[in-house]
Amino acid sequence: MATGNNVRKRVIVVGGGFAGINAAMELAKLSVDITLVDRKNYHTFQPLLYQVALAVLSPADIAQPIRSILRDHQNVEVLMDEVVGFDLSDQRVLLKTGSQLEYDYLILASGSTHSYFGKDDWAKLAPGLKTVEDATEIRRRVLLAFELAERQMQEAGSHPPLNFVIVGGGPTGVELAGAISDIAKLYMTKDFRHIDPATAQVLILEGSPSILAAYPPDLQVKAREQLNALGVQVRTGAHVTDVQPGYVMVDDERVESAVTLWAAGVQASPLGKLLGFPTDRRGCVLVDQFLNPPNHPEIFICGDLAHVEENGRQLPGVAQPAMQMGVYAARRIGRLVARDFGSDGTGLNQPFHYFDKGDMATIGRKAAVANIKWPFHGHWSGFPAWMTWLLVHIFFLIGFRNRIAVFSQWAWTYLSFRDGARLITGSQNLPGWNENYGTPEDASIQRSLDLAVPKT
Ligand SMILES: Cc1cc2nc3c(=O)[nH]c(=O)nc-3n(C[C@H](O)[C@H](O)[C@H](O)COP(=O)(O)OP(=O)(O)OC[C@H]3O[C@@H](n4cnc5c(N)ncnc54)[C@H](O)[C@@H]3O)c2cc1C
Repeated sequence: MATGNNVRKRVIVVGGGFAGINAAMELAKLSVDITLVDRKNYHTFQPLLYQVALAVLSPADIAQPIRSILRDHQNVEVLMDEVVGFDLSDQRVLLKTGSQLEYDYLILASGSTHSYFGKDDWAKLAPGLKTVEDATEIRRRVLLAFELAERQMQEAGSHPPLNFVIVGGGPTGVELAGAISDIAKLYMTKDFRHIDPATAQVLILEGSPSILAAYPPDLQVKAREQLNALGVQVRTGAHVTDVQPGYVMVDDERVESAVTLWAAGVQASPLGKLLGFPTDRRGCVLVDQFLNPPNHPEIFICGDLAHVEENGRQLPGVAQPAMQMGVYAARRIGRLVARDFGSDGTGLNQPFHYFDKGDMATIGRKAAVANIKWPFHGHWSGFPAWMTWLLVHIFFLIGFRNRIAVFSQWAWTYLSFRDGARLITGSQNLPGWNENYGTPEDASIQRSLDLAVPKT
């Protein structure tokens, strides 16, 4: 244990995501000392990652240094390090650098990551979207496909089909599909001389009977209609059995794919299993109504890492529950520290309760669906849902600069039909394309050889 009864308690928060940041800000109001540990120095606003992936926004528009978010809270310190283990009996967190941090209370909010259902070798062929690095890698591949097609067309008079295959029809898959369609059909049409970017085909492969499975059936239908209007094909009941460079297999059928993206599976951060408590099949830690794992009232599991059930259903892995869990855990620690159990002793019996305001998924320019549960009930689609989505995301973005930057970039994109961050950084290798058609470097070497060696 870090401290005795009369000294300030030490709280360690692991993770500077939605749950961790909200927990730290709430804890900062208490007379406790807080250390927030994250392996990154910035908080990522994941709901807008796909806009970085599709070149509308830049990484800095949606990420904010954790240190700067918490700078005004003198009792909060930030440590950039990776948590690699726990010593639960001595109440210590073990860090990759070899240090250990003692705690009186621990809030673990290390989030989730992709799951390839045991086929981890698919990851390099079909990147998923979880981090800023993932987003810039997807951006690289999508933009590179158009560049390689332009080059191929110029040199050979034809190019392989610009097929973009997205595995998974949840909110992320739908957002990616709509955004690829938007850039191909709206934002890049005037930029190429040899290819027509609008000929790009976007295909969602979803294994279950419907896309957006967590949404009401009428919104699933609306979402599909809006995707079709954007030219996105949707195949449901389509089980991807293999991912290879340049194509995917749906059972025995080969589907050509210039770029394959993965939006099909999520698993909890491995830290959940490291704790040694029972987890569900995705690795989320099973917690009680106070967000505590069994027999550890000093440990709180929050956000995507927590398996919390209400009315017999697991809470979704989205931002609102994560934020509310972080705040709840901090307030409960406040009660425990102050020994404030309420006049009738009920204070400590107050369980976590998720206040569900609804869900929204954006599909493309002026296209979205919204399942609104607060302040009224309603199912919206199309332009009203899209406007609501824009406003809510601006509101929840952390940082004034980011809000201004995102708002002005969206206004610019909307009015000018131009995206804002169309940069290809890193390698010029595109799995499948380069194997079949050669790298641009190969092509330019070949061209210089053609020029240097007189043809006989
Ligand atoms: C592409 C995408 C789109 C999304 N869109 C929406 C949306 O529109 N609406 C919505 O409500 N939700 C959306 N979500 C879900 C939402 O972002 C998550 O539910 C939310 O981020 C979970 O918050 P969290 O705090 O549990 O974890 P995270 O926000 O993932 O934060 C976890 C933090 O822990 C850190 N960490 C992890 N492991 C370690 C370690 N070992 N040591 C130190 N630090 C560590 C990470 O660096 C990270 O900062 C989306 C998610 C994604 C990926």
